[in-house]
Amino acid sequence: MRKKILAANWKMNLTHSEAESYLETFLSEIGQVNDVEIVIIPPFTAIPALVSASEKVAFLRIGAQNMHWEKNGAFTGEVSATMLRALYVKYVIIGHSERRMLFGETDEIVNRKVRSALDAGLRPILCVGESLHERDSGEVEEVLRRQLRKGLENVVEKDLSEIVVAYEPCWAIGTGRSATPVEAEQSHAFIRSDLSELFGATAADRVRIQYGGSVKPENAEDLMRQKNIDGALIGGASLDPRSFARIIWRAEAALA
Ligand code: PEP
Repeated sequence: MRKKILAANWKMNLTHSEAESYLETFLSEIGQVNDVEIVIIPPFTAIPALVSASEKVAFLRIGAQNMHWEKNGAFTGEVSATMLRALYVKYVIIGHSERRMLFGETDEIVNRKVRSALDAGLRPILCVGESLHERDSGEVEEVLRRQLRKGLENVVEKDLSEIVVAYEPCWAIGTGRSATPVEAEQSHAFIRSDLSELFGATAADRVRIQYGGSVKPENAEDLMRQKNIDGALIGGASLDPRSFARIIWRAEAALA
């Protein structure tokens, strides 16, 4: 049984002190959580404050939104996996569509980052997903296959269970237009079958595949009920601690 994982991607929002108030409100709202794993992924600047404020909260982990693939060196403005690990960061988003589109990240860069994260003991959240044009041209599976195969090149089977895949169709991110549960499940099932071809059915069956793209309290439960949807990566709706808590409750309800 794969434990569902709900992650809040704050993108470039909230200062470290706003992050502390967020966490206070979120924790008092959410109470105890047993059956799902929660990750908050703030900008780098808020990571230390959130790590220390959440030290005793067993169900909550802190993640990062990006990293460089080298351990250190002359890469002005960058942060390495080792540095994140030293802050007790557990997860790192890799290959988010905003990084692919706005910062020119290629599948090759994504792959270097995935391997570097694994080497440092970080769990990559590998984002894949098609554009609207690719969907309209019937290329969804081809795009997903390419992003998965290149993103996971030279990753060995024993490391696969450390990886979370996030299926995030670009046309659903920040647009208010989520994929329907059926559309999302189709892509998730395809991703799992492709992972199975690459790593074998047992390893593929253990991988958690999150859905991301306009998840909100109103659509979370139906999405989370799908067989191959093992959680969500949530942008806009996670910026309000109460709305993030409501999404988590809907995900818990889907387990019932
Ligand atoms: C995201 O940025 O990963 C995301 C899914 O954003 P939103 O929930 O706002 O669509």
